[in-house]
Amino acid sequence: MRFDVADLAIEVLPEMRQLKGVATLTFTATAPLARLVIDLDTNLGPQGIAIDGKALPASAWSNPDGQLTIALPRPIAKGGTVTTTITYGGTPHVAVRAPWDDGMVWSQTPDGRPWIASTAEGYGCDLFWPCLDFPKGEPGRVDLHITVPKGLKAPANGVLVGVDTLPDGRTTWNWSAKSPNPYSVALNIGPYEEISGTYKSRFGNEIPMFYWYLPGEEQQAKELFAEFAPTLDFYESVVGPYPFGDEKVGVVETPHKGMEHQTINAYGNEYAKAPEGFDWLFQHEFGHEWFGNQLTAANWDDYWLHEGYESYMQPFYGRWREGEARYAAMMLGQRNNIMNQAPIVSGKLRTEEEVYEADKGGPGQDIYMKGAWMLHTLRNLIGDDAFKQVTTLEVYGRPDPRPGNFKPRFGSTQEYIANVKKVTGKDYGWFFDVYLKQAALPKLVQQRRGDQLTLTWQAPANLPFPMPVEVQVDGKVTKLPMTGGTGTLAVPANAHVVLDPWDRILKQNDAIDRYQAYMKAQMAKRAAAAKKE
Ligand SMILES: [Zn+2]
Repeated sequence: MRFDVADLAIEVLPEMRQLKGVATLTFTATAPLARLVIDLDTNLGPQGIAIDGKALPASAWSNPDGQLTIALPRPIAKGGTVTTTITYGGTPHVAVRAPWDDGMVWSQTPDGRPWIASTAEGYGCDLFWPCLDFPKGEPGRVDLHITVPKGLKAPANGVLVGVDTLPDGRTTWNWSAKSPNPYSVALNIGPYEEISGTYKSRFGNEIPMFYWYLPGEEQQAKELFAEFAPTLDFYESVVGPYPFGDEKVGVVETPHKGMEHQTINAYGNEYAKAPEGFDWLFQHEFGHEWFGNQLTAANWDDYWLHEGYESYMQPFYGRWREGEARYAAMMLGQRNNIMNQAPIVSGKLRTEEEVYEADKGGPGQDIYMKGAWMLHTLRNLIGDDAFKQVTTLEVYGRPDPRPGNFKPRFGSTQEYIANVKKVTGKDYGWFFDVYLKQAALPKLVQQRRGDQLTLTWQAPANLPFPMPVEVQVDGKVTKLPMTGGTGTLAVPANAHVVLDPWDRILKQNDAIDRYQAYMKAQMAKRAAAAKKE
């Protein structure tokens, strides 16, 4: 079935730490439907269900383990629509350390007022609304009606339709958002202050920008808000138009670190300062509007398209702002964290946990830093222009995106590899076979015999790896094509040789391997000492 509209009326009760909701969900049958299967956490009921306005007996549904199954009173033919109204509520799951786990975060502002957020990337949207908990379960539209106690605000996804004030002072915040990722629909509640402005895009449109922050932080909030326009300009220049320009740029301060909630990005980095001169967390989460919300990987297995790209966009922004030295410094910082324990892509249908959690056999953090280093290597291999064209094509599904001529889309690793071929006219399958589908890195082996230097790539599983390499001989750089994975160069016996002096290629590195082993041993030592005390 296709998910057309989710209309969610949610009341948030901070004192009881409870939610009360009415979800009206409309689906179109893409095949004959006899029942609806919807995800809803068992903490939340449901208490009642209607189909097309008619209440069902409780015997018509069951929700034993969070898979709410509703028997339809009569089957829906292919192409027919069905609307279900689900009354639900209770005590939602509480996050212990959001956003690394998920649920509600019931926090307080420094002056003791409620400050509430939700995250759902891992455990799923069903923690607070009945949804289809997988990337393709994205509804065409979500209308939100969030009711909060007097004095609190509820900024959310999409466009603000209006705020209703109830007789007792509670307010209902009405929002409407197009095609949000299921996990990017978010609750954010607090006594927020608001800064707003307008961004004049290089594509001709004007985009409203908002930042909701806690009272008493006006100065820091202004400084962060000042980063919005230049960050937008960067992404619009190197990727393409901001995907949700007809809605808004929205950022909200949260009691957790951050999350890429569509048009209401969560920011919880406490205005940290960094030598690169911008807030990495804001810049990272905001970039997910392109890599995550506009382009969504249909399978969690391909989530390097979100996290690898976003991790790469951090040094890429450093380069945009300050040049190659900042870029190199930021890239090298990331390099030390690449673990190479499992391939980035398994080629199977995977859950979020199977990808993000290394102890479940997934690539874990490698979808971030190794993804970034793979993209760095790819850009150096195919050139800046081709890299930009590949990126734009993947994000928008077309080479010429303009506001209004594209929609959010789903992508995959396979499609990305095809796009590289389309843009460059060459088959780079060998590149992705090694970097995405193998755990170990390729190793560059050098041999010097007399006046001859021979370089050979040793790729995992003996895969072909014809990656050109720059060699610096007594200060002069030559590029070896490495056809067939090997190359030779005449080098005087006493010459000083540096391989790949700009570190353009992600490859095995003895020093980093030893450093990582040393750090691991140090941590084990410290943990053992802490245990004794
Ligand atoms: Zn991210």
